[in-house]
Amino acid sequence: MSGSKSTIAVFPGSFDPLTLGHLDIIKRAAELFDTLIVAVGQNPDKEELFAAEDRLEMVRVHAQAMPGVEVRAYGGLTFDFVLSVGAKVILRGIRDAVDLRSELQAANTNRIVGGVETVFLMATDQHTLTSSSLIKQIVSIGGYDPQRLARLVPQNVADKLRERFGK
Ligand code: ADP
Repeated sequence: MSGSKSTIAVFPGSFDPLTLGHLDIIKRAAELFDTLIVAVGQNPDKEELFAAEDRLEMVRVHAQAMPGVEVRAYGGLTFDFVLSVGAKVILRGIRDAVDLRSELQAANTNRIVGGVETVFLMATDQHTLTSSSLIKQIVSIGGYDPQRLARLVPQNVADKLRERFGK
């Protein structure tokens, strides 16, 4: 970003598990913001597959190699966390019209109630259909080919999934 402003963005999510889609957004956002904080939280609407510490570690392995990218755990309201770290914006990824609808509502609420703006990056074409929730369903039911999952998630996550759910 130009000028003397230092822009901190927070990318909040449950990352349960981290996918190549998330990772793509993180890499692209790292080019746009001085500091990107990947905030690993809890989504009350979703059942948890991996504990917070595991989800943090999944992201940390990648963030270590990315200048300006930090990974933090958080709880409570997203905009409270954003303000507490001195950030100006929330970053979210948009895959399709379904994401857009719920994300617009969240962005509007965060702006009105928390005074925090949201910036969106569109998913890249090859990751538009990648979803943590579906991966969760597949591994919970079992019977998958671990090699195929490696096309949707980074290798460290594929290894964790195999360790825990593989046969
Ligand atoms: P949450 O449960 O808080 O929505 P997620 O981990 O599911 O957390 O998603 C975090 C963010 O990443 C959201 O903005 C979501 O839209 C985005 N996202 C999820 N999957 C993808 C993908 N395949 N490509 C791009 N963005 C994605």
